[in-house]
Amino acid sequence: MAREQRRLAGNVSGPFFVDASCIDCGTCWTFAPAHFRNGASQAEVWHQPAEGAEQGQALLALQACPVAAIGAPRELIARTPVEGFPARVTATRRGEVYYCGWASRQSFGASSYLIVRPGGAGNVLIDSPRFNRAIARRLEALGGVSSLLLSHRDDVADHQAFADHFGCGRWIHSADADAAPAAEHRFTGREPLPFDADLRVLPCPGHTEGSVAFLFDDQVLFSGDHLWWSESTGALVASRQVCWWNWPEQVRSLERLLELDVRWLLPGHGGRRIFAPGEWGRELSRLLDSLDS
Ligand code: SF4
Repeated sequence: MAREQRRLAGNVSGPFFVDASCIDCGTCWTFAPAHFRNGASQAEVWHQPAEGAEQGQALLALQACPVAAIGAPRELIARTPVEGFPARVTATRRGEVYYCGWASRQSFGASSYLIVRPGGAGNVLIDSPRFNRAIARRLEALGGVSSLLLSHRDDVADHQAFADHFGCGRWIHSADADAAPAAEHRFTGREPLPFDADLRVLPCPGHTEGSVAFLFDDQVLFSGDHLWWSESTGALVASRQVCWWNWPEQVRSLERLLELDVRWLLPGHGGRRIFAPGEWGRELSRLLDSLDS
């Protein structure tokens, strides 16, 4: 629970604030950038939300925070939208994509996503949010979870609780499988492979040896910690500083993504981005040109 006595000095005055327990994970300013931003080394409220939809967005950011570092008066918190998370991000001909919120400290606040697929294809959870009854109920209302795909070792969080609750099968790459040894299935090798008709598995070794991206309907890329969008620089980012395994391999994995034409980039950390047709290749080339391998 955030405490007023630990309110950070960078917050603008008003009912919403970030306190000193913030771990600087980026969840709040990615989800609600109109109200939260990255301060010197922790988040801060830079614009207090107005009553109504703005307040609802800020309250969902409060709910998503993995360490309860965002505070607001009790009477405001009681107005948190009941059907907040998962929050719809986009839809394709093959299904709808949701951001799950409820970030977990175990995965440093990483984003997780739900693909809701009609026609009996089964819903897919991409990485694990924090488990609790509220999100379990909402996932049930959206059709449950058939499969849980883990992008890499850092973002497995509460996979066991979701598997216990939904009876879903779990997949992780064999090189990262020691992070979730109970997962029933393994991806192997470095070649792209179909998960099923509308979902492809793209091994991207680099950030970790077993990093994997997932491509839904040839246009929505779930990139884990492989790459993300930066609003501040207006460019794609992959970082050597947060490459835990092998940077030259990560650059080669990025090069393999040039053949795609991604429309939605949904990373574990960092900014999301919608691309116009053809823009993905230009932006990824620009990133590769800027990297030293
Ligand atoms: S979501 Fe919470 S921990 Fe993460 S940056 Fe915001 S206030 Fe800090």
